[in-house]
Amino acid sequence: MINVTKTFLPTLEEYNSYVKRAWDKVWLTNRGELTLELEDKLKNHLAVNHIIITNNGTIPIQIALKLFGNGGEIITTPFSYVATSAAIVWENCKPVFVDIHPEYLTIDETKIEEAITSKTTAILATHVFGNPCHITAIESIASKYNLKVIYDAAHCFGVNYNNQSIFNYGDVSTCSFHATKIFHTGEGGALFCNDQNIYDKLYYSHNFGHNGPLDFHGLGINAKVSELQSAIGLAVFDHIDTIFSERKKVVEFYNSQLNFTNLKPLKIRENTEWNYSYYPVVFDSEATLLEIQKELQSENIFPRRYFYPSLNTINYIKGAKMPISESVASRILCLPLYVGLPTSDLKRITSIINKIIC
Ligand SMILES: *Cc1c(COP(=O)(O)O)cnc(C)c1O
Repeated sequence: MINVTKTFLPTLEEYNSYVKRAWDKVWLTNRGELTLELEDKLKNHLAVNHIIITNNGTIPIQIALKLFGNGGEIITTPFSYVATSAAIVWENCKPVFVDIHPEYLTIDETKIEEAITSKTTAILATHVFGNPCHITAIESIASKYNLKVIYDAAHCFGVNYNNQSIFNYGDVSTCSFHATKIFHTGEGGALFCNDQNIYDKLYYSHNFGHNGPLDFHGLGINAKVSELQSAIGLAVFDHIDTIFSERKKVVEFYNSQLNFTNLKPLKIRENTEWNYSYYPVVFDSEATLLEIQKELQSENIFPRRYFYPSLNTINYIKGAKMPISESVASRILCLPLYVGLPTSDLKRITSIINKIIC
């Protein structure tokens, strides 16, 4: 069976060599040495100013919204994973959707201003499939209206924009280290920011607000990562160059073999060093997508309709119509992309797709 992704696993021996250190110390969580080492390695590798690793990639969005949302309206994208909108609702804020750019698939920055009201407190935008939003435009709108900017950068491990880590943009950026993501700790995630003051707030928030054992800085939650998760992360991180080069090969295969006459690939924004995180293709109609999905399934190949549905249509959110997002969501398929996907399988996938769309 070929799925849209396959979790990259180091050998069990490699994992054990890290996890043994937790055993030897009898220390499984609360920012143990494996967690500190992983944070340090990621900080250097990504060249970011501040990082806090967390137990998943959703709680960082919630923490950022707790600090900046203030129960207000949050301008956001309808084309993302459900966690983006759900975090807004969960934090008692109101999602206000702005439609997306039809090719970059990120929030359409030219439509943000008209969605701002006196209740707007923040912009929460997703760098979809590792493709950066129009960061400069969003920054200038945010400073004009005094709004905070949070980026859901769950897909962005290793992406650079304008020669620096994409995690360095926004008041806060978040990432997911879920097992299906490009770098992972099984379950996990991270908070990133530039400002020391914001870092302190995020840091206390992620650990119950503790300032030492007896004192509390403010309201907090438990977003701490365990040493077992950090051990996976360290063992995966040792292979990070291979992970990127192998994924690049798969992407290049699709780029060279797919017939793009009736098929649109993701348009990557200029000045981006991309991370080969997903291979989305947009068909001319949902009917074509369904036909291709069926044909691939009959060969035990399971691409994923991602993102689907458009988040403004979810039952607990009554969002306005978002024509572009709804249309793209109905026609987009993420093709299998992972380390170790054999060329023979890639050939089968591309020939099935090419046969149907031509
Ligand atoms: C994966 C993902 C999340 C959630 O991350 P988890 O680690 O699964 O909690 C949030 N936003 C986007 C865009 C994602 O793809």
